[in-house]
Amino acid sequence: MLNQLTISELSAKLSKREISAREVTQSCLDQIARVDGKIHAFLSYDADDALAQADAADKEISSGVLSTQKPLLGIPIAIKDVLAVRNQPLNCASKILGKFTSTYDASAIEKLKAAGAIVFGRLNMDEFAMGSSTENSAFGATRNPWDISRIPGGSSGGSAAAVAADECIASLGTDTGGSIRQPAALCGCVGLKPTYGRISRYGLVAFASSLDQIGPFTKDVRDSATLLGVMSGHDLRDSTSIPQPVPNYVAALDGKIRGLKIGLPKEYMIGGLDAEVKAAVDAAVKKYQELGAEIVEISLPHTDYAVATYYIIATAEASANLARFDGIRYGARVDGNDPAELYSKTRGAGFGDEVKRRIILGTYVLSSGYYDAYYLRAQKVRTLIRNDFLKAFEKVDAIVTPTTPTAAFKAGEKSDDPLQMYLSDIFTISCNLAGICGVSLPCGFTKNPKLPIGLQLLGKPFGEETMLRLAHAYEQNTAWHKEKAAL
Ligand code: GLN
Repeated sequence: MLNQLTISELSAKLSKREISAREVTQSCLDQIARVDGKIHAFLSYDADDALAQADAADKEISSGVLSTQKPLLGIPIAIKDVLAVRNQPLNCASKILGKFTSTYDASAIEKLKAAGAIVFGRLNMDEFAMGSSTENSAFGATRNPWDISRIPGGSSGGSAAAVAADECIASLGTDTGGSIRQPAALCGCVGLKPTYGRISRYGLVAFASSLDQIGPFTKDVRDSATLLGVMSGHDLRDSTSIPQPVPNYVAALDGKIRGLKIGLPKEYMIGGLDAEVKAAVDAAVKKYQELGAEIVEISLPHTDYAVATYYIIATAEASANLARFDGIRYGARVDGNDPAELYSKTRGAGFGDEVKRRIILGTYVLSSGYYDAYYLRAQKVRTLIRNDFLKAFEKVDAIVTPTTPTAAFKAGEKSDDPLQMYLSDIFTISCNLAGICGVSLPCGFTKNPKLPIGLQLLGKPFGEETMLRLAHAYEQNTAWHKEKAAL
């Protein structure tokens, strides 16, 4: 079935005109109609618009436009509900935006469109990207395609589930503390968080601006490299995007990993690490040795402080970023007798519990009297965490860890215990604090039930080529990524 194929497989068939973009798009729409009632990865999609984009792509293909010119020509890609796509709804899975529709394209979306992609659908997520299970959506939870009694991870749970269930060929998500890598691990796909500044954030609704990055969910590493290449680059509309040349990431996938050094952080073998996850990661490390890489034990001594540091910095930034949702400028409004009452009624009715918890925490850590004790201190610890990585990268080319301590947990299992939920991000958070890049790829399954396990590779700042080369070499020598959920 066409919807199960990768971008590179489809591109080859499309350019030979063995298949049409309309057929590819229709196969995704058929799969959505068949399975999304169970999974609920999509908040909405416009089938007619997707097919119209497909017809336009087919016209370009028949007029001779090649996939070397437009690497995503005719490929349906679905989008997390936090990125602006012109004339499409934008809700961040929150009630507070009401019937808001984007008036412009995010830079990453502009680039997808310029590369020929069919940009369709709004994917479910934790409200404003706050969460690890996609249970915090105001429009109902998403379920894991491998076992619908379980969560798909979060906050980009819809993006991961849609790719794992073959409802689209690839998707976009965002990663502030693991929201791409963690759901990719739990759903069995490839999820990449680029180096901070690699992809423009223009048109991304901000959660924590110093941590947020956009990135791809794909069925294999090659597609991840393709999408990263399309979306990367400097953008004058985002002052934090970095004017660094964009390498040919696909060309980096040459299998040459002999002699590369991979660090194994001793702090990551924690007590709560599930035995099957540990065994799968140990086996992956052995595989790397067989393939000629050298494994080096490293230390990231400030790892213990990462979760606390993240939940101070991320909530502080969120409290400032979310101040704009006031009932005056965007979306939903609940009227009051004066502005203060209007604000409080609108925000009281519009935000969900987790978003309110974060705003309250963030306001507290920034308040006078507590700023030095919490926010300022967290910024200092953040520097220590970044320095741990920079020091480790003097000795190694990349770092390997589990992506998550356990496979997908049951829906409802952690929703009443925010601290337990926050701890499921323990392996992914430091990467955002350090501003480096990371990718999660499938490295095995638990036995009973059969659930995907993710391997995380972390790379140097702007070290995506080496990181992807390593990910690709492992993938080419294993078959985990080829397994499909029975739906
Ligand atoms: N799970 C983390 C949180 O709740 C990370 C979310 C994200 O990366 N957007 O904040």
